[in-house]
Amino acid sequence: MPFSDPEAKRRWQRDYNRRYYAANKVSKRLVSKAISQKRDLRTRKRRWILDCLDDRCSHCGGVSMALELSFPSAPERLIDRSPVDFSWQDLKSHRYDIVATCGGCR
Ligand SMILES: [Zn+2]
Repeated sequence: MPFSDPEAKRRWQRDYNRRYYAANKVSKRLVSKAISQKRDLRTRKRRWILDCLDDRCSHCGGVSMALELSFPSAPERLIDRSPVDFSWQDLKSHRYDIVATCGGCR
């Protein structure tokens, strides 16, 4: 691997990743692993957000198992994204702007 040239290293890594993915997509079940890792990550982020909110609706303060999360004052780059898909960094900096809504307040 050409370590001295960062651009050449990046190209080499990209080509290696493509070959690895093509060769192992089926045998290593890469797609279903990626789906399950993404699902687990979203579950962990949802739990983290709900812990910050004490599992309470932001409107009535009631504890609910079925809170819907939203970010009404989201900046443009996050506007179409669910809070569970935010980066950890965005979650931590916007934790007090995320709104949870219970079934009764929807
Ligand atoms: Zn409510």
